[in-house]
Amino acid sequence: MSNKKKILVVKNIHEAGLNLIKENSKFEFEIIENPNLNILKEKIIDCDAIAIKTTQLTSEVINIGKKVKIISRHGVGYDNIDLNASKKNNITVSITTTANAVAVSEHVMFMLLSISKRKSMYDKAIKSGKFNDRNKLPKTLEIWGKNILIIGFGRIGKCLSKRCLGFEMNVYVYDPYVNEEIIKSFGGKKIENLNDSIKDMDAISLHVPSNNQTKNMINFNLLKKMKKNCIIINASRGGIINEIELNKALNENLIFGAGLDVFDTEPPNYDNPLLKNDKTFLSPHTASFTEECMIRMSKETIQNIFDFFNNKLEKSKIVKL
Ligand code: NAD
Repeated sequence: MSNKKKILVVKNIHEAGLNLIKENSKFEFEIIENPNLNILKEKIIDCDAIAIKTTQLTSEVINIGKKVKIISRHGVGYDNIDLNASKKNNITVSITTTANAVAVSEHVMFMLLSISKRKSMYDKAIKSGKFNDRNKLPKTLEIWGKNILIIGFGRIGKCLSKRCLGFEMNVYVYDPYVNEEIIKSFGGKKIENLNDSIKDMDAISLHVPSNNQTKNMINFNLLKKMKKNCIIINASRGGIINEIELNKALNENLIFGAGLDVFDTEPPNYDNPLLKNDKTFLSPHTASFTEECMIRMSKETIQNIFDFFNNKLEKSKIVKL
């Protein structure tokens, strides 16, 4: 029997991370491409570490993995992992803190610009031979000098603020857990009351974790207070914007448009009206899918496992259980 530590890779990751394992004589790996409950329950038994993307890791599975010492998330959100079961089984959960802020921030800028320039509509017009219709198309917007509200000022929120300032936007931040001085040092202004300030914003981008406090945080009550030209973007987690109420607000022209990378259910039901709404610009939870980010995430996921077994894993990468 091999005395190497076994890493179970749940759904393949970029080869850059796998190469790190191949070069390390103390570790080996097995990839499961189509994880279902039975396969996970079978494969978890003899592994020491798990590298996982967004597959659900329930207590039913975790409780069986008696050898598992670390669950290394390929990403920063960990709502797919049962943290209580991890704690009970004394398993460390780590995240790739340095890998994806740039990719997600760029994706938000891409959505913000695409919606304000009505990318889909203008692209479609010229490709369908309607160049001369350009004066009839609805007008586009600038983002220069506009107010953007960043909700959640962690790794991604901070990274996004720099990009918005590059476009000479005014950055406002709502994050009760980050003090004013930090926000100021990033060139932003702290908002204390979401309800009162939302009416002044031209764009809103969400970067909070998914939890009981943030569920339905953006609801009709807030949507109806927004400017008619406001653009809202969610590249955090589904459920933070109420999808039904967002669709209603778009249909009633209460806001300009919405960019969504994440959905209540993923994949979203095909009859989800947001998929057919002209005012939405959507992507299939791919904000971090740049080539560069995939390499960084893959390497960091594996490096976190190595660091854990060498007692070198940085505290900032460990999820508090
Ligand atoms: P982070 O932990 O660094 O930052 C989250 C911030 O949200 C923290 O500053 C926290 O204080 C703040 N916050 C928590 N509750 C809040 C509340 N009720 N109101 C306002 N602020 C609140 O996380 P991050 O790395 O910046 O990631 C942010 C989100 O983006 C997470 O939900 C993560 O899952 C998601 N994400 C999505 C993708 C994607 O592909 N779309 C990729 C990476 C991360």
